[in-house]
Amino acid sequence: MSRCRFRPGAMVFLSVAVLATFTVALALHGVGRVVPVPQQVDWASIIAEKGSSDSIDGRSLSSSLTGGAEPVANRFPVPAVLRRSDRYVEVDIGQKPPSPVVDLLPRVGIAVSALDTPILMYHHVGPLPSNPDAIRRGLTVSQGDFAAQVRLLATSGFQSISLLDLMLAFRGYKQLPPKPVIITFDDGYDDNYRYALPILKENGMKATFFIVTDLVGKTEYLTWQQITEMAGEGMSMQAHGVSHIDLSVLPPSQVLYQITESRRAIEAHTGRRVRFYAYPSGKFNDGVVAALKENGYLAAASTLYGTDHRASEPFILKRVRVQGGESLQSFARKLKIAK
Ligand SMILES: [Zn+2]
Repeated sequence: MSRCRFRPGAMVFLSVAVLATFTVALALHGVGRVVPVPQQVDWASIIAEKGSSDSIDGRSLSSSLTGGAEPVANRFPVPAVLRRSDRYVEVDIGQKPPSPVVDLLPRVGIAVSALDTPILMYHHVGPLPSNPDAIRRGLTVSQGDFAAQVRLLATSGFQSISLLDLMLAFRGYKQLPPKPVIITFDDGYDDNYRYALPILKENGMKATFFIVTDLVGKTEYLTWQQITEMAGEGMSMQAHGVSHIDLSVLPPSQVLYQITESRRAIEAHTGRRVRFYAYPSGKFNDGVVAALKENGYLAAASTLYGTDHRASEPFILKRVRVQGGESLQSFARKLKIAK
């Protein structure tokens, strides 16, 4: 039973015996290892690498899932939702996450309090429009520069990981590669699909795209079809709001709308879980962070500069902005690549 691990903050929830006798066993394929879920719990999220699990409570996952989210309330005494991403199988049991604890995945290492991982921040990739202003120039990395940067990452031994990988690594559930990098794109521009995606694929890199859902399909922005296609290719589609609005000046009800409706729309189209937010214009405050936490987000990307992240501050992930027109030497310096 020692595999049941809950962080101290979650213990309070376990004392609520909503479920008097409730056991879910997650049998790990091949080795027949069973990961037990606590008997008394009001909410739990079980997550396992896809392919490593084949049953929960004796019910086959592979035969019952074709992708996306599936309500499994009929199998459990409380509401439960089964989700499958390209890499993970996940089951949420209970009404509402009291805390976004991802637990019960077999540990591969120890929990760590800090990790040094560059999270690159891009916006446009491709040619500039005619008469671009200074802002647009700063946000636009040419196709050639982007290709050189991604190639440099690959030849320098960097391997792309996801934000979920980073969160799992903090908790000791994931071994990161020796030189991890997280590549992110803000706003969901259609040039990301046309110019960045092929370069990422050529170099075996995955990236995270923060989508503004009300802008999807508008001029210069990705369509839902492109977003869904990219998700199918292993790209992570995450939230950047319904509209591109500064959350720090909004009343709580509108903050809630921005963070939950954008997630709902992306999940509905991609069938994949949205757990990460990028603050529009990098703006946030304590209320915004609390709202994200309460609504099941695991972390959020800021525009603060840096590569060091603390497990205790997942909602202030720092990033490394890549400027339009910046030299490869400058890029290499930011990544601490010796040239
Ligand atoms: Zn933005």
